Amino acid sequence: MRRLNSGAEKEKDACIQVVVRCRDAPMRQLKNNTTILVHPVHGQDVMIDGPASVARTYQYDGVFGPRATQERIYDKVVRPILDEVMQGYNCTIFAYGQTGTGKTYTMEGDLNGADTVRPSHMSPEAGIIPRTLHNLFDELNSQTAEYTVHVSYAELYNEKVHDLLARDGASNGFGNKLKVVKSKTDKGATIQGLEDRLVINARDAVAALQEGALRRRVAATRCNDTSSRSHAIFTIMVSIRERTETAEGDEIVKLSKLNLVDLAGSENIGRSGAQDERVREASTINRSLLSLGCVIRSLVRPNTHTSYRDSKLTRILQDSLGGGTRTCMIATISNSAENIEETIGTLQYASEARGIVNHLLANTK
Ligand code: ADP
Repeated sequence: MRRLNSGAEKEKDACIQVVVRCRDAPMRQLKNNTTILVHPVHGQDVMIDGPASVARTYQYDGVFGPRATQERIYDKVVRPILDEVMQGYNCTIFAYGQTGTGKTYTMEGDLNGADTVRPSHMSPEAGIIPRTLHNLFDELNSQTAEYTVHVSYAELYNEKVHDLLARDGASNGFGNKLKVVKSKTDKGATIQGLEDRLVINARDAVAALQEGALRRRVAATRCNDTSSRSHAIFTIMVSIRERTETAEGDEIVKLSKLNLVDLAGSENIGRSGAQDERVREASTINRSLLSLGCVIRSLVRPNTHTSYRDSKLTRILQDSLGGGTRTCMIATISNSAENIEETIGTLQYASEARGIVNHLLANTK
């Protein structure tokens, strides 16, 4: 019997998709008479209507307004990516945006009752991760191939990695600190000692997610809401073994990974008067988000060097960002007056990730 690897071994260009989700309806901003209008022209635009200094239109692969349900986001954005995972490709989906704009809502949403046998029993507010887990096991069980699924859940806070599934949580509420080391087999880095938990069905997998999410919340409450300043990386590792019809009885092994990442808030804490510890945190958050932005920009521009080494976040995600992988950024924004600068920052970051720097359709009003 010969073993053949599939999927991730195949050559495929990096594919990056950027979508925007706006959690509330347009409101005229009191501060400078500005309005943020989601998909007013082509269904793919976010238009900032206001003074010339801010007025412009940004284009993305998709934009979702306040009426977009969790189910719709899953169907439009995530389901096609899960198809790639089933083919053996490594993929990453991350939520980027200011704290309070809906990153955790989008990635996790309401987990109550999500550890159910039937996906239809999930809350309509359940987010991307529980929906992905249910859909993944439905797909796997509809095939004859043998499979195994493992999940891990890591939190990266102040450039330190903690295991959210560790049963021996340290006294601060986090799991013990773990080291990021060079990967022996793959490109990039792995987290030494991170638990890869074997899960046999969606219910099991969602229970692991709930356990980690609870640990993250407890740690956040003890340590002055660290969750807005940490990155949470939920990883699903899938191995599918298929027998081919050939005389040699070849076995094709598809190994793939899906990283679902809830990034730290993109607001620059340093700029909003933070001091000491917060300034240090802000600079590590900025470093990781900036290096993630640089990696993604380099992937969409030909002949540009990609440096994954500048932050732990990009080192950890290296084997799922770049050639032969698929990446999706969900940029979350709000419509409140005091957040307009951060919102423009998020739109800009998301726009640059698409490799389109000159914005079209500048608003002339
Ligand atoms: P973040 O993770 O970006 O800090 P959260 O996901 O915690 O933000 O969202 C802040 C609050 O707003 C939560 O109470 C969440 O349930 C709510 N929320 C966010 N986005 C939406 C949305 N699209 N629809 C309904 N409620 C939302």
